Amino acid sequence: MVDAPLAPATSPRVRFAPSPTGYFHVGSARTALFNWLFARHNSGIFVLRIEDTDAERNREDWVEGILSALAWLGMDPDEGPYRQSERAGAHQSAVDRLWAAGCLYACDCSREAVEARTKGNPIPGYDGHCRHRGLDRGEGRVLRFATPEEGVVVVADVVRGDVEFPLAPMEDFVVVKSSGQPLFVLANVVDDIDMAITHVIRGEDLLPSTPKGILLWRALRGEHAPLPVYAHLPMLVNEQRKKLSKRRDPVSVESYRDQGYLPVAFLNYLALLGWSHPSGRELLDVPELVAEFRLEDVNHSPAFFDVAKLTHLNGEHLRRMGVDAFVAACRPWLTADAAPWPPERFDEAVFHQMAPLVQERVALLGEVPAMVDFFFLEEPVLDEVAWAQVVGDASAGEVLDAAIEAYAACAWEAATLHQVTAQVAEQVGRKLSKAQAPLRVAVTGRRVGPPLFDSLALLGREETLRRLQAARRRLASAAAGDPGASGAPGTPGPDEPEPPPP
Ligand code: GLU
Ligand code: ZN
Repeated sequence: MVDAPLAPATSPRVRFAPSPTGYFHVGSARTALFNWLFARHNSGIFVLRIEDTDAERNREDWVEGILSALAWLGMDPDEGPYRQSERAGAHQSAVDRLWAAGCLYACDCSREAVEARTKGNPIPGYDGHCRHRGLDRGEGRVLRFATPEEGVVVVADVVRGDVEFPLAPMEDFVVVKSSGQPLFVLANVVDDIDMAITHVIRGEDLLPSTPKGILLWRALRGEHAPLPVYAHLPMLVNEQRKKLSKRRDPVSVESYRDQGYLPVAFLNYLALLGWSHPSGRELLDVPELVAEFRLEDVNHSPAFFDVAKLTHLNGEHLRRMGVDAFVAACRPWLTADAAPWPPERFDEAVFHQMAPLVQERVALLGEVPAMVDFFFLEEPVLDEVAWAQVVGDASAGEVLDAAIEAYAACAWEAATLHQVTAQVAEQVGRKLSKAQAPLRVAVTGRRVGPPLFDSLALLGREETLRRLQAARRRLASAAAGDPGASGAPGTPGPDEPEPPPP
């Protein structure tokens, strides 16, 4: 018989426990990621628990938002999703045990009564009025946890070290509402105990409630029962160093997906919000994140959520992809609904040829259609500002004329087109880059785009000449003061037909 290798004493179990009370936001995604990376790095289990006990604030479509964002980011749970709302029985039996053990007492004080009694007290909060009144449990009475009068609770936090909370100022906090519904602080701890959670990794906004959780944990499991390891992650702040706000800041994960951020780039960026690679390297793929992620390397200073940096990283990741992978990633932006061209005009082969050039020039997948739309639209979308520059450019007409003449006869491939255009530039006494501008606007409608000569080569002689000639005519009418000539091509109103060819 062969000895089985010893399994690790306990493989770590972590949980991501979002409350579905709004759009899934970047702070939650960062918390999910740190849990997921920790689990993957340590061969642990990543549990997903939806904390949906607050029926008034939860919505089912927000649960779906959480699930689809996690799926998009590739953070599949090993267990769950569990629903906290389905664990009411477990919460109730924990309440019964705490009651039987004398850890709780019933309180029927109204908020007003408490306020009137405690106004001016040096220690704010509930004053323990009902602690020794011996009230029975029942409708209309909350249950409070009788906190010890002295001592400290120490939260041993991997990120912040030991954080001490003195018990004297801590009020006897409510664990069950007057309706009989257990509160978050209790449900959260009961679930962590039942799910054998070993590491609680979450946002630092939850640090203040952690000592209450520890008191409950000990009351339920015994004074010396091992506690989970805590890691409270630094908060995310905006440019003004203010806490990221769902109202002011662009925080919904969905919106990043819709703009064309890659999951790997988004994960890479989120990982850097509070953590860094030991080497300081910032461009990292998922296996590298998993290999190097250690909770000990998480720091506690607030992390600036910098969209510009995220976008830059996204561009870097786009450029790292193989062309086929890039084309596949672009596909949702190129197909029927999303794309600006009629589906039958899209030519996959043309896009594939342009793809390596496009890949160098975009930071977001959402920018791809505008880079190539001139191939697939009958008439290019004319950027008004770009066209106004052409109109204001005294030698644009001359450039267009010379190019039309030269392009009519030259060999049709990028290097030749480059050469021929350089000659055109010389002929009109301009730099090549300057001479390219009106040509680019005439053919693509825009000032920026993929390299011009590759684009022309692919677009073909006939179509290139047709667009150059159309632009030349528009330019002539603009010069003649025809206001209709400044509009987009292909959209003349019924009363203003395209001017006839000269
Ligand atoms: N459900 C809590 C929240 O979304 C998180 C609880 C936890 O991670 O312990 O704020
Ligand atoms: Zn009371």
